[in-house]
Amino acid sequence: MTAPATAHGLLSGLDEIAEIGRDTRRGGYSRHLWQPADLELRDWFAERAVRLGLDVEIDRNGNTWAWWGPRGDDAIVVGSHLDSVPGGGAYDGPLGVVSTLDAIARLQASGFRPTRPCAVLVFAEEEGSRFGIACLGSRLMTGALDADQARALIDPEGISLAAAASAVGIDPAGLGEDPAALARIGLFVELHVEQGRGLIDLDSPVAVASSILAHGRWRITFTGEGNHAGATRMADRRDPMLAAARSMLGVRDAAVASSGSRATIGRIEAVPGGTNVISSQVAVWLDARAAEDAAARDLVTEIEARVAEAAAAEGCTAVVAEESWSGAVAFDPALRDRLVRSLDGVPTLPTGAGHDAGVLSSRRPTAMIFVRNPTGVSHSPEEFATLDDCLAGVDALERVLRELL
Ligand SMILES: [Zn+2]
Repeated sequence: MTAPATAHGLLSGLDEIAEIGRDTRRGGYSRHLWQPADLELRDWFAERAVRLGLDVEIDRNGNTWAWWGPRGDDAIVVGSHLDSVPGGGAYDGPLGVVSTLDAIARLQASGFRPTRPCAVLVFAEEEGSRFGIACLGSRLMTGALDADQARALIDPEGISLAAAASAVGIDPAGLGEDPAALARIGLFVELHVEQGRGLIDLDSPVAVASSILAHGRWRITFTGEGNHAGATRMADRRDPMLAAARSMLGVRDAAVASSGSRATIGRIEAVPGGTNVISSQVAVWLDARAAEDAAARDLVTEIEARVAEAAAAEGCTAVVAEESWSGAVAFDPALRDRLVRSLDGVPTLPTGAGHDAGVLSSRRPTAMIFVRNPTGVSHSPEEFATLDDCLAGVDALERVLRELL
C-alpha cells in the first residue's frame, strides 16, 4: 500500500504514521490497544498536539485529550480513534484525528482564537480488536460498560484488561464511568471516512450523520466430539465445524429475509485446531445490525433458532452469548441541523458502522461528518478516500469549529 498523498502539508499526519502498525501478513494495519503500534501512535499524537501548542492528558480510561487553550467544562470536543481492526485501512479513525489537528492548525494560522474550551479527543480501543468490545473507551467513560466486567476482559493472549492497563501505567481501579470527563464534553463532533457507498450516490464529498444502525456482537459456541480425522467413520461424527458451517448459511438467510438488516460471521476459532483432528468445539462471532432495536433483536432471535437447528442436525450443542449491544442512535437533531447549515446544506446520511460518537450520544449532543469513500470498502487494506475529499473534510471541520467556538 502506498502512503496517502498530501497537499500543502495538510493530512501529512497520515504520511507520518504510515509505517506504524503495518500488518505484513494480513496487509493494512493492525493497531490494537496498548500494544506497541498503539502506544507509538499515542506518542505521535501527543507530539503532534504539543507542536500546535495543545496540552495533552490521558484520562483514567486511557482516552487521550489535547486541549486548545485552558481546560474546562462544556468544551467543544472533536476527535476519533487511532486503533484499527486486524488488517484495517489507513483512514478509519486516523483520518478524523489528522483532519481535526489540521483544522485547528488552519484556525490558528488565521489568527482565530476559541472563546470556549476546546479539545481533541482520541478514544481508546474503538474497534474492540484486543478485548472484543467496540468503543471501549467511550463505553467506559459513559458507564455503558461496567468497570468490573471491563477489568475482567481477556485478550487472545490471556492477558486481562486490568493487567494490560497496569502495564501501560493506567490504574485499573480508575477504569469506569468518568463524570468529570463527561462534564468537559459540551458537545462532540467526529469526522470519519464513510464505510459504505452512501456518498457516492449523493455525489457529495462530505455528509452529516443522521443515525447509526442498532448493532451487537454474539459469540456462538458449538460443542461436539473431538476425534481422529482418519479413524472416525463419517456416520459416527459429531463435528461442531459442520454445525458452524450450516449455521453460517442460516445467518445469511435470516439477514436477507429481514429487509435492511445485516449479519456477518467474520471470525472462527476451532478447538483444538488441527488438520487431522475433528474439532471438539468451534466458536464463531456474529455481528448483527438493523435500523431499529427491535428488528436487530428479532434478527438475532431468528438466528438463534437456526443455530439450534443446525447444531442438532450435527449432533452438537450450541450456546449463543451476547458480547456487546448498541441500540440504534439518532444523532442530536439541533446539532445535526447546525452542522448542515454551516456546511451549506450538505446531505445527511445514516450509517451501519458503530462509533464512539454514537456511544456518547446517550449522554451528550454528538454529531458526525462523513468523508466520501469511492469504493465503499472499509475495515480492509483497500479502504480509500481521495485527497480532494479528505481536504473537503478538513474544510468542513474548520468551518464547523469556527461556528461552534
Ligand atoms: Zn472508526
